[in-house]
Amino acid sequence: MASHRSWRWLILLLTAVLLPGCGVAQEKRETGIVYEIFVGSFADSDGDGVGDLKGIESKLDYIASLGADSIWLTPIHPSPSYHHYDVMDYYAVAPEFGTLEDFDALAAACAEKGIGIILDLVVNHTSSEHPWFLSACDDLKAGRTDGLQDDFIFSQSSGQHPVPGTEDWYYEGAFGSHMPDLNLDCPGVRQEIASIIAFWQDHGVKGFRLDATTSYYTGNTARNTAFLQFITESAKAGDPDCYVVGEAWTNENTILEMYQSGIDSLFNFPASAAEGVIVKAASKGKGANVADKLAAWNEKIKAVSPAALDAPFLSNHDQARSRGMLGSNPKQMKAAAMLYLLLPGRPFVYYGEEIGMSGSGRDENKRLPMLWSGADETQNCLPPAEADQAQRLTDGVDAQEGDPDSLLNWYRQLGRIREMNPALIGGRMRAIETDNAALCAYTVASDGVSLAVLINTSLKENAEIDASAMGLAGYACLDALGADAEALNAGLRSGGASLPPIACAVLQGPESPILIAP
Ligand code: CA
Repeated sequence: MASHRSWRWLILLLTAVLLPGCGVAQEKRETGIVYEIFVGSFADSDGDGVGDLKGIESKLDYIASLGADSIWLTPIHPSPSYHHYDVMDYYAVAPEFGTLEDFDALAAACAEKGIGIILDLVVNHTSSEHPWFLSACDDLKAGRTDGLQDDFIFSQSSGQHPVPGTEDWYYEGAFGSHMPDLNLDCPGVRQEIASIIAFWQDHGVKGFRLDATTSYYTGNTARNTAFLQFITESAKAGDPDCYVVGEAWTNENTILEMYQSGIDSLFNFPASAAEGVIVKAASKGKGANVADKLAAWNEKIKAVSPAALDAPFLSNHDQARSRGMLGSNPKQMKAAAMLYLLLPGRPFVYYGEEIGMSGSGRDENKRLPMLWSGADETQNCLPPAEADQAQRLTDGVDAQEGDPDSLLNWYRQLGRIREMNPALIGGRMRAIETDNAALCAYTVASDGVSLAVLINTSLKENAEIDASAMGLAGYACLDALGADAEALNAGLRSGGASLPPIACAVLQGPESPILIAP
């Protein structure tokens, strides 16, 4: 195993020296891992208790240590709410988060570390305090209906929310009166959305996460898909490498249809959270289910859109934290981490997942302060005002950094495995049949590289690896976690390999170019 690893380093080194232009500046980090940051709860730089952009900048080394190649920031724009999903100005930074200059500084620091910024693009609705909406309402109050109100969906028949100050005007707002729905058919609105995208690309943004995509045209998947295509094309027009990921919190068939838009990714909600296959497999020690379900899912999305990348995750800012679903059991949390972080595509890590933070019930509880320290509260943000749960995790980042067995260090090692195996991002996944329900086994093939991923989710039993029966003859172990790679390789060669409980290994196939002997 040591020899394989050193060979890979040698080849990486030779590539850097021999290829023109590759020997300079920083390497591009390519793991596919995205780290989701709920901005107000992550890191506070000025002592007001609210997380901010400078705070994020101060934690980039921490984020890089997880192997993340991108960060998704929940909305950073001015907003009357603590979560900022009702935007008042798409071209500005909320004062509590900093300034546009702070954003530029963050983008520059991210670029230096090979980390891309993905912004939340919330265009299903604005804030009811957005000047566009206020001026439209003023017009209606004054009896003006000359078409300037087309940015929103007003009606004089009965509607969801009455326009204050008028007798008979109503507006649509699927998420409440404070979030009026934009009229996405209005050419001016579409032009404005393209301008917003271009503006932030000019400020160094490398991707967009699209909020509430199934609500663009509620109940009309074909129109939602067409609108996704419009946004994706607008983003790629400014930057062909711009990464676009959509929130479609819905069933598999609807998500599949929406992949026809050509969007890079749609979050894998069906596999997420308590009812999703990943958490269930981790909590029951049934890893094989993940290989079967996710291989089938990856095939389906690539059949619709060959460049599609799955976006698996355990939980996000709208969902209970996975800790609660996994019984606060560190081994099950480690099993879940292996199951989603080694999958093809772009796994999303919700901040705090990597240390095992808790949070459930009302939304504010799912967005509790990042626990930099359990002992020194001054290092952490203040919780959202309406939170009614305290953080149950006691060992923060500081304590876990010093503990080699911590969940944090487990995530870091998985991040390193991913750094060594960029083929995991876009490769084709095939499940390996096995009669061991605890063993998640699959191959990922990409550009002449063939990898095999083996994950034992059993808490107690070894998983026997029969290389020839599993179609893995000639494969060699490159990286292992919770297992000894040398011993695995010896076992693979002699036909008697065994993976300990809660462990994983990444193998490389004999046809892969890196293993060609000198
Ligand atoms: Ca602050």
